[in-house]
Amino acid sequence: MIPLLGMNPSELRAIAVEAGLRPFAADQMARRLYKLRATSIEEMTELPKAARERLMERYCVGRSGPKADARSVDGTVKYLFEGAGGMDVEAVYIPDRDRATLCVSSQAGCRMGCRFCMTGRQGLHGSLSAAAILNQILSIPESETLTNLVFMGMGEPMDNIVEVLRALDALTAPWGLAMSPRRITVSTVGVNPSGVEKLIKDTQVHIALSLHSPYASQRGELMPAERAWPGAEVLRFIAAGDDFSRQRRLSVEYIMWDGVNSDMRAATALARLLKGLHCRVNLIRFHSIPGSDLRPCPVARMEEFRDRLNDMGITATIRASRGEDIMAACGMLAGNNRDKSGEE
Ligand code: SF4
Repeated sequence: MIPLLGMNPSELRAIAVEAGLRPFAADQMARRLYKLRATSIEEMTELPKAARERLMERYCVGRSGPKADARSVDGTVKYLFEGAGGMDVEAVYIPDRDRATLCVSSQAGCRMGCRFCMTGRQGLHGSLSAAAILNQILSIPESETLTNLVFMGMGEPMDNIVEVLRALDALTAPWGLAMSPRRITVSTVGVNPSGVEKLIKDTQVHIALSLHSPYASQRGELMPAERAWPGAEVLRFIAAGDDFSRQRRLSVEYIMWDGVNSDMRAATALARLLKGLHCRVNLIRFHSIPGSDLRPCPVARMEEFRDRLNDMGITATIRASRGEDIMAACGMLAGNNRDKSGEE
């Protein structure tokens, strides 16, 4: 069955005509899919019954609820969804005062191989369709209360850029969910220059670059993607594509490890690298993962590091850690392959 979720009005129009409907039926279908959040074609009662039956021979909406969930003491909820290539994916709901954020996955597994990430250890099992990306957002019980989305779950969004852009279109277009792009952040390690370019030019979402080290050699050891496209070049490329001086935000993600990238020399090097760019730094606490010798940096040093960056004119904050007890924090997502994650 082909899912309708993720389709734009012109694609829906072709399907409507194929089912013997007038082209304007596509607008009714889009309204049902995105505004009324239909879970089945049967709910599209504006369409004649015979046409709905014809549609159901080939198409479905593409909605399916989570297969399982895990709840943290801090209110974070991790949901397991049908993924791709036999591997399920996780989405993490993070309530925080007046915000409710969903961390969305774009791939089942990931081939970027970052040393600090459990998803990376799984390798890539498959990329998610726009329908499977949108389904995570629409099918959690808290869907209607979501205020923010971050594409920071499993997978590298630039490695699945076509489907990620289709999902972003459906999320932000007036015919879709009409969500403000300022409520959406897409994260990348910086592979695929044409994908990054499309993200900059074709959308207005915030962009987060996973940098994690100001030194090319060190970043290369932590993140093989550095060898394909150095982080410093990615930064310059993104900064040249938009000035990020108004409401659109460029953030630099920086996980802190003890004895690796957390001394004051690294803070100074990072501040120099970011000098003159309109960006801010999110300092992220590392959560130890099985089979890794990387250790979390003490909180006091993170604060010192943040203060050094702020003193050097770079806005930096320490991101609160959420959902560690349910393996939902940054770098801990592993879908249904958890048991394989510590074996390397
Ligand atoms: S950190 Fe992101 S890009 Fe790197 S392996 Fe994990 S999911 Fe992939």
